[in-house]
Amino acid sequence: AGLLPFEHEPYFPYADPAVAQAQRDAFRLVRERYVGRTFPLLLSGQEAQGEGTFEVRNPADTAEVVWHFQKATPAQLEQAVQNAKTAFESWRFSDPLQRASIFKRAAGLLRARRMELNAVMTLENGKNWIEADGEVAESVDHFEVFARETLRWAQGKPVSPMPDEHVTTVYEPLGVVAVISPWNYPSAIPLGMALGALAAGNTVVWKPASETPLSSYLLVELLFQAGLPRDVIQFVTGTDDVLGDPLVDHRDVRMIAFTGSKEIGCRISERAAKVQPGQRWLKRVIAEMGGKDPTIVLADADLDDAAAGIVAAAFGYSGQKCSACSRVIAEDSVYGALLEKVVARTRQLKVGLPEDNADLGPVIHGGSAKRIMEYVQGGKGRARLCCGGERASMEGREGGYVQPTIFADVEPHDPLFQEEIFGPVLAFTRAKDWQHAIDLANDSEYGLTAAFYSRDPAKIAEARKRIHVGNLYINRKCTGALSGTHAFGGYGMSGTNAKVGGPDYLFWFLQTKTVAQKY
Ligand code: GLU
Repeated sequence: AGLLPFEHEPYFPYADPAVAQAQRDAFRLVRERYVGRTFPLLLSGQEAQGEGTFEVRNPADTAEVVWHFQKATPAQLEQAVQNAKTAFESWRFSDPLQRASIFKRAAGLLRARRMELNAVMTLENGKNWIEADGEVAESVDHFEVFARETLRWAQGKPVSPMPDEHVTTVYEPLGVVAVISPWNYPSAIPLGMALGALAAGNTVVWKPASETPLSSYLLVELLFQAGLPRDVIQFVTGTDDVLGDPLVDHRDVRMIAFTGSKEIGCRISERAAKVQPGQRWLKRVIAEMGGKDPTIVLADADLDDAAAGIVAAAFGYSGQKCSACSRVIAEDSVYGALLEKVVARTRQLKVGLPEDNADLGPVIHGGSAKRIMEYVQGGKGRARLCCGGERASMEGREGGYVQPTIFADVEPHDPLFQEEIFGPVLAFTRAKDWQHAIDLANDSEYGLTAAFYSRDPAKIAEARKRIHVGNLYINRKCTGALSGTHAFGGYGMSGTNAKVGGPDYLFWFLQTKTVAQKY
């Protein structure tokens, strides 16, 4: 018998004072254990120094340098790719049960250290406890899900039999996979991509975002501790001129798994299409990019429920999620009432320190706050500002604190309606009727998530068919996809729709072999 059915990792009940105290203790431990340290590259598990280091800063107070990471050299990138290429020759034939067992062990190890990894993440990317906990719990889920997916895909698929031939369809790995990941989900996103690669028998060059490398580094260490052969992951950090295009362009890289901005995703897709001298394949690219995710609220919806979902999805982690709700499209008759409810709830939110579990912390850095504020300033001239609209200051701290901001009466052609802002800025737009609401929702180059609130079965049925997104949520918020349940990935310019955490994800990391043998 195989693995038991999987259950999602439950979140910590922080309302319990003892649990909250344990999380505070974890911050103390992380500060003692990691702050001020310099972390190496891991080339086949060997620690290596680069050419200089870079600083990682606490977004809650960018004057605080929390840790340092290496700037890999071009020669070290080459070394990483060659190590991964060599390691592939044995890992590709590894026993799927061995791979699944490593992931199961890693799940156990991570489960025991969740609060520590939550605290590391908060200090790197400014998530509050709840957001960090949601993500680390998702990482535990990924280990469990990928353990099961490894075994499932190892079975191959049935085919129509022939009288005189034995025919099988089996799946084989591709080679070296470059994993390039963003700062907003520094644990679950790179882990999901890396586990997809590893579960399928590929080897990985893992390049975390420079803002958030420790969340990744600790997962790589944990995988080694769980028994992963050390040459199977190459962990490299550094500057984009050394690790960006050169990694994507490398002729020995077989596949690129990317999550991040539309701009970089398009660049990777274009560059990867070029066959380099000596390259013996067309590179495969999976890319998860941006979103401009709508919540559609019809006249018959439960407005309180919708307002709660909207506020959580728009302002959780200050809207720095590609899944975040950034547009509300409401039917005319409830538009005003809904707006009032959403504004009232938003006014209750406190901007503060993520380490104190404030509702909204800082955005990732000052540059990001500046970009967000340009959208806000522009919006003030074109739409009706209902709340926020300013930076927030935090006594004695430097950080990109931005108030949760709502604009009403935003026109569909407005940048606030069309462009991904990646900050706490929400646009309200009025729809004439429910069909118009669906049309407005679809008026976007993106198609990642959407939430739809209505109690009318016929309208829900229509929404299920017509809303053009990869993740459609009915009568619930549009963030918080769970691995193994809500396969995550979008349509259109939101990316290649590889659907991490879903039943087909591993296929992207595999090629299919048919073997027919005469009896
Ligand atoms: N998977 C996350 C969610 O469902 C979002 C990931 C992202 O924003 O990149 O909320």
